Parts: sequence; structure tokens; C-alpha cells
Amino acid sequence: MITAAQSVLKEYFGYDEFRPLQRNIIQSILDKKDTLVLMPTGGGKSICFQVPALLLDGLCVVISPLISLMKDQVDALRINGIGAAYLNSSQSFEEEEVVIEDCINGNIKLLYLSPEKLKSSIPMLGRFNIQLLAIDEAHCISSWGHDFRPEYTQLSILKERFSDVPIVALTATADRVTRKDIIRQLNLHKPATFVASFDRPNLNLEVKTGIKTRQKDQEIVQFIHSKPNQSGIIYCLSRKTTEELAEKLREHQVNAAAYHAGMSADDRNETQEDFINDRVQVVCATVAFGMGIDKSNVRWVIHYNLPKNIEGYYQEIGRAGRDGLESETILYYNLVDIVLLTQFAEQSQQRELNLEKLKRIQQFAEADICRRKILINYFGENFEDSCGNCDVCKNPRKHFDGTLLVQKALSALLRMNESVGITMLIDVLRGSHKAEVLEKGFDKIKTYGAGSDLSFNHWQQFIMQMLNLGIIEMAYDEGFSLKSTELGKEILFGKKTADLVYPVVREVKKTQTIPL
Ligand code: ADP
Ligand code: ZN
Repeated sequence: MITAAQSVLKEYFGYDEFRPLQRNIIQSILDKKDTLVLMPTGGGKSICFQVPALLLDGLCVVISPLISLMKDQVDALRINGIGAAYLNSSQSFEEEEVVIEDCINGNIKLLYLSPEKLKSSIPMLGRFNIQLLAIDEAHCISSWGHDFRPEYTQLSILKERFSDVPIVALTATADRVTRKDIIRQLNLHKPATFVASFDRPNLNLEVKTGIKTRQKDQEIVQFIHSKPNQSGIIYCLSRKTTEELAEKLREHQVNAAAYHAGMSADDRNETQEDFINDRVQVVCATVAFGMGIDKSNVRWVIHYNLPKNIEGYYQEIGRAGRDGLESETILYYNLVDIVLLTQFAEQSQQRELNLEKLKRIQQFAEADICRRKILINYFGENFEDSCGNCDVCKNPRKHFDGTLLVQKALSALLRMNESVGITMLIDVLRGSHKAEVLEKGFDKIKTYGAGSDLSFNHWQQFIMQMLNLGIIEMAYDEGFSLKSTELGKEILFGKKTADLVYPVVREVKKTQTIPL
């Protein structure tokens, strides 16, 4: 069977070799087993069901969530001479009839179907000779995943109706919980599970903390100028930022365009095409950009803001370096992001889960151990060594006894009745003369100016560490004011010590002493 698969791979797709696991996955499907495939973006999931579809004597139905992608996928298959079609809510009755005829006649090997179309299509599917059911982006079925789509829950009827047909479920992002949920909801029968390595050693990982917008923009312009003609993506949290940033980059002679879901379909397509064909070097985009974009030479990905969760982050940086060549990824992480993302999560449907996921990416961004180790372990794979290709490995963090520093901050905080947010706390510690500080009389408190030896940026990083260590917490419901925790009080009263990490030194002023 596998030699036949190899000829199909060569004949229809032009590839000589299967990638690791593709061969085993295809064998499992041809053995009529239910199969679960976890493979990172760009890993080559499609081949895993397209090749069996061509070998099986019948039809493969593919459930795929995005109508816009469906058409591209089908077009690409047809160009390769493969009988493919799709059914979704965008078609006329006549168009649908043609597809149905073709499926019955056996002209179609792969039929793409949108999940919302499934229920009404069940009687029709009964008339086809279905040999395989492929569920793409299978994590959409789970409310534990990061991209839950309620329509996907209807897929549970597939196993009931087509109990003899093997199901292959594929996803790029699934932690253990999501994985279990996929199996349960699809009623997969003793599925053979294949987990490809999520490691992408050619991606350099870097996180930069506490950098203000102006400096961030300067750094990004310099970065892009140092990489002439190299394609890159900058992910931003808001639509507005994508447009403003693209504009700013153009002012600095960077060929940049914006992309977000608020643009017309035509504009979005144009930007996407321009990027793929190297007519635009940089796209400033929201997370709406990238799904299904097959561009192998994206050399870098920058996150202008903290992403909502690790799954999204990993998928987005995964769009760099698909050709296996060295590629850079930079994540800018600011407290403002946390404030905003927390608000979003608080208002979201799955509040608890989203808050938890936000906490995990925050921990990742703050971590002082190998970043790759954290990511790979997050996806349930063991990664023991350090990678040597992330900012922490390249620049190991030094710890110091930060007790005194924490005491200064907490003492100032308590003297202001725990009523202030991060900026005010830092301003008071640094002895700022801002009007608001003086108006409130904070210049009279004992610790006013007690931390003037440190830059704003460094204080920000220490306060972030204090948040992450549970020394202080942020009252999201009280104007984001900071509160000391029990642990904080123990440190303040000298019962416990605080182990902090030196910030990576940046923008050192002549007068500035590094902590202690
Ligand atoms: P995924 O769905 O996992 O993100 P795709 O199926 O889109 O990934 O595949 C990513 C890219 O890798 C595509 O350009 C695809 O043609 C290519 N590819 C897949 N399998 C192979 C292979 N065995 N040899 C060479 N290229 C492959
Ligand atoms: Zn590392």
C-alpha cells in the first residue's frame, strides 16, 4: 500500500518523500482505524488525508471551518488534477446540484464541507460512497481549545451515521485536555494518535519586556532596515494599531500594509496576494491574518502585543521559517497588554479558561528558563535540554535577593492605601514631580523617591515579577489598583525573602545603578 501512496505523492503533489509520521498516519487510515493527528502548522497535515483519499475507492469528506480557505484548497487540488469540490452556504442551489451529481458519479475524491452545512447534508451524504471522514482544525470542537466553534459540536453525529467509516481528526494545537475532548466528542474508536514534534529549532525566540511604544517602534524600524527584502509579519492586538503601525513603517520607507477583519474581502485578498508574491514586505495584522497562507520564506514574526494564549502565539510564530531556514521571532510584552487582555478575558464567554490561558502566556513571557522548553512542554512533549536559540539560553538570567526592593515598593503601596496602579506606584518610587503625584500629596509619604536609582522600565519589570511571584496582585475590578498579598506582607515584615531576576540591561543611563 505504501509504495502506492508514494507514487500518488509524486504524481499528484510532486514530492519524493513523505515527512516523518505522514507515512504512518496514511497507513493507519488505510487500515481503517480512527486516527488523531497533532502536527504543527506547516507540518503537512493535508497530505495525510489527501493521499488516502486518492487511494481509496470512494469519497473522502473533509470538514473544514473556513469557507474562504475551502475554495483555495479545492482550487489547489484541481490544479493538481484531483477531483475536488466543496459545499457551503455560499453556493446557489444549481451549483450545489452539480457537486452532488459529481459525488454520486464518483468524479469527486475530496468533498469539503462546512460544519454548519453538515446537519442538513446528512441525507445527501447517505447517497455517496464515503470511505473516509477528515476533520480539519479538530480543536474547534472543544470548548477547551482556543478557537471553539459551536457548529463543530454537531460533528458528533458523524460516528452515529457512518459507524463503519474511519475518521481522521487533525489539529495543530491541542493540549492534553483538548485532545481528550476531541476523541470523546467525535466518538473516535481506539484512535491511533500521532503527535509530531512541535519543536521548530530554526525559530529563534525572543521576548522583550517593558518597552514603551515609541522605543518599540524605533526598534522595529531598525530591525526591518537591518533585513532588507525579508518578509515578515507584525501581529497587533487591535485593528487600529495595524493601520497606524503600517503607516508609520511606510513613513520610514518600509513597504508595509495592514490586514484585519474590518477590511473588505477584496482589500484583504489584495494584501495577502501582495505579501505572498513579495510585493509587500511587511504585513501589520491582527490574528485574522495567516490561516492557510502558504508562504515558506517568512523570515520573521513580531508580536507587537502579548497574544491571548500560547496556542495562538505558537501558531503565529509558526508562520515564520516554514522552509526550515533560520528565522526570528520577537514578542513585545507590556503591562498595558495584560490590562487589556484581562478585560477581554473577563468579558468573554469562557472567562475562567481564558484568564487561565492568559496567565500561562504571561508566565511564559516572564520566565527565566529556556522558552522553547516551556512551549514544547506546554504541548505535552518532553523537552529536557535547553535550546540555545532563545533569549534566555543566550543570555541567562541572574538572580538576586530582591527583598529590599520589594519592601520599598510594598511600603509605598501600603502608604497609598493600595489605591494606585502601576504607573503611579513607579512615579512615587522614583520621586516624580507629575501634577497628579503632587495633587494627591504622595510626595509627602516616607518612601517617595526611595527607588529613584532605577529606571521606569526596570521598575516595571520588577513589578511584573512581583505580580508573577504572587507578592502583589492586581484588582481588575478596582481600577487595576495593586494590592499586597499575604506573601507580600510576610516579605515586607522580614519573615520571607524575595528572589528576583535582573532585567536584561537595556537603555542604561549613566547615572543608573543596576539594582542593589
Ligand atoms: P498544515 O495543514 O499542517 O499546516 P500543509 O498541509 O498546508 O500543512 O503543508 C504545508 C506545506 O508543506 C505545503 O506547502 C505542503 O505542500 C508541504 N508538504 C507537505 N508534505 C510534504 C512532503 N512530504 N514533502 C514536501 N513538502 C510537503
Ligand atoms: Zn532556550
